[in-house]
Amino acid sequence: MTHDAAVLKAGEIASRVLAPSASLNDKAGRFSAEAVQSLGDAGLLGLLLPASFGGSGLGPRTFAAVTATLAEADASVAMVYLMHVLGTACISAARPSAAPALTPILEAIGAGRHLSTLAFSEAGSRSHFWAPISRAHRNGNGVRISAKKSWVTSAGHAQSYVVSALAPEGAGPTDSTLYFLAAETRGLSVDGPWDGLGLRANASAPVALNDCEVSLEFQLTDDSAGFSAMLNVVLPLFCLGTAAVALGLCRAAVAGTAAHLKNAKFEHLGQSLGESLPTLRAQLAAMQIDTSGLAARIDDLVEHLEKPRETTMLRVLESKAAAGDIAIRVTSTAMRTCGGAAFSKHLSIERLFRDAHAGAVMAPTGDVLREFIGKALLGIPLF
Ligand SMILES: Cc1cc2nc3c(=O)[nH]c(=O)nc-3n(C[C@H](O)[C@H](O)[C@H](O)COP(=O)(O)OP(=O)(O)OC[C@H]3O[C@@H](n4cnc5c(N)ncnc54)[C@H](O)[C@@H]3O)c2cc1C
Repeated sequence: MTHDAAVLKAGEIASRVLAPSASLNDKAGRFSAEAVQSLGDAGLLGLLLPASFGGSGLGPRTFAAVTATLAEADASVAMVYLMHVLGTACISAARPSAAPALTPILEAIGAGRHLSTLAFSEAGSRSHFWAPISRAHRNGNGVRISAKKSWVTSAGHAQSYVVSALAPEGAGPTDSTLYFLAAETRGLSVDGPWDGLGLRANASAPVALNDCEVSLEFQLTDDSAGFSAMLNVVLPLFCLGTAAVALGLCRAAVAGTAAHLKNAKFEHLGQSLGESLPTLRAQLAAMQIDTSGLAARIDDLVEHLEKPRETTMLRVLESKAAAGDIAIRVTSTAMRTCGGAAFSKHLSIERLFRDAHAGAVMAPTGDVLREFIGKALLGIPLF
């Protein structure tokens, strides 16, 4: 599959499957299994996987474009997709000794039949996902893990979870290890409902691990090497993906606002809102300027990821921090510009506004990113 073919397929799924049900799924907090099925059938679940596993071997450029395209129609599905791509990246980057056990999983992902996700955040360390409270304990040829994972996108719907826990002999708070847990692992259960303000259709519920047995062949990283995988494998793609979700939300807000300004009329003046009020045109223009700026920032990040250099990690951190703020600003302006029609939920703008607020609180949060960037600029250690 080429870049263009992947984006075309994402666009087709967005308009045929996602757009018609986004509003109802949001209202009901319903996870879209049919969206995942369509993404699998189209070969998009294996987008970044090498061809040897049935994947398309594509890179961050296509991942960002596909994610933004999905988010424009339904950010909940885009976030499910993003967390799957990250879970897959961890599985595919696993240490060589795990390859025999993981090859069938990667082939199932390549064939579009397996959805994965990340279970990092814990109730005890909250947004500081790099410091799990849970610890793996040696158990013959493997480990036992008990943990309270506080938010797990696709909880109860994914076929597998990439789980972090402190290494059995880990001495410090970041000495974690990553493990692969199949959904049917004994002791793993969804531990509550998901009823968020936004991204309501992505099942980001808590997951409990009660003395789950994980054999050595499903240990993804060496002991205490989980932190390094979080920084090098997960963080760049996560920041790019959340920025792409924000871009999709901004594009949808601009399109929705433009449509409202064209269609809604002041009948007593014989003009549309857009024809009548320069303030509304100026607000729409500000939204568009922000949206194009975010698209350019994402292109720049993609270039940095394709050709890594000294400034790449800074761009990674900056992109998610900026995207979170931009998505909130653009969708907030859309709410004000569309007025009562948006406020009383006659338009999809209020869903975009609610969905946009997730990006900034998903870890690393916007605050934490600004803290990291500031420390990096001053040469202060981040951890
Ligand atoms: C929709 C959704 C889906 C999610 N999906 C997943 C998932 O699939 N897997 C997963 O592992 N997690 C997931 N999460 C969890 C997410 O990544 C965060 O861990 C969680 O949202 C943070 O929760 P909190 O506000 O309780 O954190 P808190 O740590 O209590 O943060 C509270 C506030 O303090 C600020 N803050 C915290 N630390 C600092 C600091 N050092 N400097 C400055 N400010 C700071 C934060 O920015 C925030 O404003 C998801 C969250 C959401 C909302």
